[in-house]
Amino acid sequence: MNQQQFKNFTASSLYCEKCKAAMPVRERLLLVLPDREIFDYLCTGCGSSVGRREITAGEKMLAQAMSGRRPRRRAAVHQLTP
Ligand SMILES: [Zn+2]
Repeated sequence: MNQQQFKNFTASSLYCEKCKAAMPVRERLLLVLPDREIFDYLCTGCGSSVGRREITAGEKMLAQAMSGRRPRRRAAVHQLTP
């Protein structure tokens, strides 16, 4: 019905086995792990999973640094030399 809504999806296209065509995909957060986050790509045509993406801790840290993450506690050690 509303095709404009569909056009607004800026996700990339992946090949879908069920649709037998490259279909636009939707990104969904699947799993959050301490060192990475896993995203699932769902076909917008049939809703089946067509791919996955992992965001590693390094990438995550970069994103967190942008949004102000918790400062790491630093042990203040003063070594006094006599
Ligand atoms: Zn599909």
